[in-house]
Amino acid sequence: MLKDHLQKLQQHDTPLYVYDLELLRQTLAKAQSESSKYGYQVHYAFKANTNAPVLAEVKAHGFGADCVSGNEIKCAIENGFSPDHVVFAGVGKSDAEINFALDKDIFCFNCESLHELAILNELAAAKGKTARIALRINPNVNANTHKYITTGLEENKFGINAWELPEVLGQLKELENLKLTGLHFHIGSQITDLSSFKNLCTRVNEFQEWFLSHNVELEHINVGGGLGVDYYHPDEQLIPDFEAYFSLFNQFLEVKPGQQVHFELGRSLVAQCGTLVSRVLYIKHGKTTNFAILDAGMTELIRPALYQSYHKIENLSSNQPENKYDVVGPICESSDCFGKAVLLPETNRGDLIAIRTAGAYGEVMTSQYNLRDKAQVLYLNQ
Ligand SMILES: *Cc1c(COP(=O)(O)O)cnc(C)c1O
Repeated sequence: MLKDHLQKLQQHDTPLYVYDLELLRQTLAKAQSESSKYGYQVHYAFKANTNAPVLAEVKAHGFGADCVSGNEIKCAIENGFSPDHVVFAGVGKSDAEINFALDKDIFCFNCESLHELAILNELAAAKGKTARIALRINPNVNANTHKYITTGLEENKFGINAWELPEVLGQLKELENLKLTGLHFHIGSQITDLSSFKNLCTRVNEFQEWFLSHNVELEHINVGGGLGVDYYHPDEQLIPDFEAYFSLFNQFLEVKPGQQVHFELGRSLVAQCGTLVSRVLYIKHGKTTNFAILDAGMTELIRPALYQSYHKIENLSSNQPENKYDVVGPICESSDCFGKAVLLPETNRGDLIAIRTAGAYGEVMTSQYNLRDKAQVLYLNQ
């Protein structure tokens, strides 16, 4: 509990990102043991959080790296991840990023368009190399999550659509510097309805049959990430239900002999171990509401402004009777609001406020808008 560390927190400047590395270790250990029951391999989605102490724990638990930029690949390798366990996805890989990944001989390029295949082939040929690729297929499966983090519908920019596959297979025969090794899917993020993953399995099975019927054997199937976390009751489920998640794939995904199954989890591994801690600057009494104005804003945690997402907010300093507050940041944007009509104990200037479940897509998305300083960072249980 963060309250147990109150004294330590009080000594720190805010805004402050606090990471509980012991919770992270427990989460990673559980994900690792549940996935290895079925021989599954998990690549950690770097974009969720790239802090070195976090990456060190991820690596120590045997995960690979799922990267979406050249710099993420560089970061993975610098932090000790083997290029054999690096995959590279993204709809817009630049030539420089592709060349860098080719030089490092990464495990797999997850390719998202016909055009990308042609360019990758050209760049690989120029180096006299063969790039291992997986086709990222858009399976047209609804993830039932916020529309900004839905990626597996035909209206989304991600992946190759089913009707393009015959043309892709035709092209691949000509593209001699590409080796098709797998299929890749990622339907979205913060998925809490596991039936979306069941629907994904059904589609993957159909695609596998289609490829087999065209005499294409696949070494691996990558089903992406997206497992959600409980933003509403973090303490009731600090560790996501990896058991149910992996066993669902074991039940519904048809795996061919010798085939590897890969996952790319980000949020579910790192979200709950991170908290954004902020101090109350001012209390302002509006016409219908009270504002608690924090020293942290959308520049430190943009998820509420970007995805209308909910984060549990707690006052760590006060035990007074509760009152309702709109909890807002200092940034000159009306969307700079962490929560409306939040019930908090009577809140005063200087109180420490915890914004929970901020370990994923939090610190990595900070910006210097308004020329803000970067948030401080504290690791607990290092
Ligand atoms: C973001 C991303 C992930 C991770 O998603 P989470 O919801 O954080 O698990 C996995 N694969 C790809 C291709 C991604 O873009």
